[in-house]
Amino acid sequence: RVVVVGSINMDMVAHARRLPRPGETLPGEDFQMTPGGKGANQAVAAARLGASVSFVSRVGTRVHGRALIAALRAEGVDTTHVVEDESALPGIAVIMVGREGGENSIIYVPGSNAQLAAADVQRAAAPLQQARVLVAQLEVPQPAILEAFRLARAQGVRTILNAAPALAVDPALLALTDCLVLNETEAAQLAGLPDAVQSAEAVARAAANALQAQGLPRLLITLGAQGVLVADEAGQRLLPARRVQAVDTVGAGDTFVGGVATAWAEGQSLDEAVRLGQAAAALAVSRVGVQGAMPRREELGPDFAA
Ligand code: ADP
Repeated sequence: RVVVVGSINMDMVAHARRLPRPGETLPGEDFQMTPGGKGANQAVAAARLGASVSFVSRVGTRVHGRALIAALRAEGVDTTHVVEDESALPGIAVIMVGREGGENSIIYVPGSNAQLAAADVQRAAAPLQQARVLVAQLEVPQPAILEAFRLARAQGVRTILNAAPALAVDPALLALTDCLVLNETEAAQLAGLPDAVQSAEAVARAAANALQAQGLPRLLITLGAQGVLVADEAGQRLLPARRVQAVDTVGAGDTFVGGVATAWAEGQSLDEAVRLGQAAAALAVSRVGVQGAMPRREELGPDFAA
């Protein structure tokens, strides 16, 4: 079992020829409402790849909160430990996309994601007892994640922290992290490196050196189409991504994390876990959408059979 502690949002996306100026109204060309949030995305990615997944979160049921929970359940994710808050908004992203310039403007309302508390996590101790891997990201308050990681450590559950978005991380949380996953930009920031003047791989290697020196046992630094820099006690190695025609890379990192968690919970090695994560992410970026583009295990072929 994989337990994911994290955020869940509704993304409301309106498309127009261009972005409106302040005070201006433009005719829209399209609209979509899709579930998102790094936590929910990673839960769906893992469930599609065959993991038994429990999601721990707080969801305001104003606006479309209940629909968010129902969508997760439809993916086979256990939502028993999602706290429903009738007085709160769920996380909501209002996204405007201008077709011609390919630009967007976003207002993000964190809603109930900002309210997830250590007490909410304590109530989810039961699924953690059956879990092999716990996964969290930084879109919910760090005290809640810290509580989850403490419970996990006490029960021998392995922890994956996806340090995204780029934020300062509580050292106590890093000390309880068995595997830190982050992209090159987030790694450079967390390691306190100056603005990148070198290649992405060189930046990732420097960041990995700095973070390994802080005692982190395992690091996965994602480098988009270049692959993943793996750093552990055996050293550092670059595992290349699959070559695909990328059409939409939004959510690549979430699919990757879901795949790593799934394989790790199956008892596979770290390198094998990275291989599954990268195969899933490569397929996801070759399709439009975020959760909708995440592959099922069968689609990865016989090499990746569960
Ligand atoms: P994030 O979305 O968090 O910035 P990345 O862009 O580094 O993360 O992507 C995460 C992983 O997804 C990569 O390590 C790689 O395996 C896969 N991926 C991303 N973009 C591509 C691409 N263009 N081609 C193949 N794989 C990709």
